[in-house]
Amino acid sequence: MRPLDIGIIGCGTAGPAAALFLAEQGHDVTIYERVEQPRAVGAGIILQPTGQAVLQRLGVFEHVKERGARLDGLVVHRENGKTLIELSYASVSERYYGLGIHRGVLFEALFNAVKRHPRIKLLLGVTGDGLVRAANKRFFMQDAHGQRFGPHDLIIAADGAKSRFRDDTGLLRTADPYPWGALWYLADDPERRFSGKLYQTVSGTRRMLGMLPTGRGPELDGSGAQTNKVSLYWSIAVDQVESFRRTGFEAWKAEIRELRDDADFVLDQIESPEQLLFSQYHDVVMSPWHTRAVVHLGDSAHATSPQLGQGANLALWDAMVLADAIAEEPSELVRALSNYSRLRRSHLGYYQFATRALTPFFQSNHDALGVLRDWFMPIASRVPFVNRAMVLGMTGTMAGFTMGELELPA
Ligand SMILES: Cc1cc2nc3c(=O)[nH]c(=O)nc-3n(C[C@H](O)[C@H](O)[C@H](O)COP(=O)(O)OP(=O)(O)OC[C@H]3O[C@@H](n4cnc5c(N)ncnc54)[C@H](O)[C@@H]3O)c2cc1C
Repeated sequence: MRPLDIGIIGCGTAGPAAALFLAEQGHDVTIYERVEQPRAVGAGIILQPTGQAVLQRLGVFEHVKERGARLDGLVVHRENGKTLIELSYASVSERYYGLGIHRGVLFEALFNAVKRHPRIKLLLGVTGDGLVRAANKRFFMQDAHGQRFGPHDLIIAADGAKSRFRDDTGLLRTADPYPWGALWYLADDPERRFSGKLYQTVSGTRRMLGMLPTGRGPELDGSGAQTNKVSLYWSIAVDQVESFRRTGFEAWKAEIRELRDDADFVLDQIESPEQLLFSQYHDVVMSPWHTRAVVHLGDSAHATSPQLGQGANLALWDAMVLADAIAEEPSELVRALSNYSRLRRSHLGYYQFATRALTPFFQSNHDALGVLRDWFMPIASRVPFVNRAMVLGMTGTMAGFTMGELELPA
């Protein structure tokens, strides 16, 4: 087998994971990352059994597990204290659990492994801007100054939800920003007052508060890395963020206190609205995810709202499936890429559909959907078949609309 020369754009989650798998197979990999000195940034994310299995295969799971917070399930309450949904991982498998982590912990585990790998070249501070055809079906990656890198046999676009490479491949159907996003704050929780579950409180479709146990945070940031953390997130419409920052801060704190009487210690740590990070979400649809020599992975290929908590997990799974497809057809790149798109269709199709369908029930201006949700969900989640489908959805292992289960690597 002739090793492939592979260029990967983006060193977030999908990019470094794909680099590690492919370099292990003997390919030569170059990663281009626009940030000059990548740091462990972000707030809490949930590593589901799917993402955990991929990290185990990459040999970096122990670091993440050790710094994460084990979650046995999820509980959503209404503003009146009634339980809307309660889901437990153990109801589908005793082996399953979620891991609340700081995004930076995942980043540092992957980044450190990439830096150590002799077959991976890491070019930092390089912002990819487009692709230029070279001879023999290869591509140069071109930066914003017109400098060319490569040529590469395969380009992997893993440059996130706002990818600049979707125009070059012409695969994009839609890439729309959601009208809603979330404010995030990462608080110290040394006594682990929030532990064991993701806690969410909803009031209609316009108010949603989450408390995600987040473990100890990254080792690299040097700021209280040993302190246990909890991530607070608060749903907010994009067009409200400005006014929240200007005048809404104190009223917001009062609103949180109304919804939860145990969050005071978190609110006490937030002294100004600037401490809350705003993140907006995108809904990206493309099909298939490859051309003859370019493939999109992660948020670049299929960003969604984080309602089902799957973003990083889908990105990791993409990287593993792509590497396995290339390992199966080492000398037939086109066939390997089309196998990749075929293998991902069902899993990604399900999660994109489910997220799109569910999001307006939790984040929208459609009040009637909130009433319907409050009436229907407690009944539905008690039906064993529906409950199982909900838990499988949460674990990331729902293989598609036929309700089959993904097989996790041993
Ligand atoms: C800074 C940041 C903070 C985040 N915080 C959270 C969070 O708190 N909670 C949560 O649930 N999700 C968060 N996410 C999203 C989450 O990490 C992703 O949904 C998930 O990990 C999918 O990963 P990805 O590799 O597809 O994309 P990403 O993780 O977005 O990685 C994309 C990478 O590509 C780089 N890049 C982008 N454009 C270019 C370019 N033109 N040339 C070169 N490099 C480029 C970016 O700098 C980034 O490193 C965050 C993402 C980022 C980038």
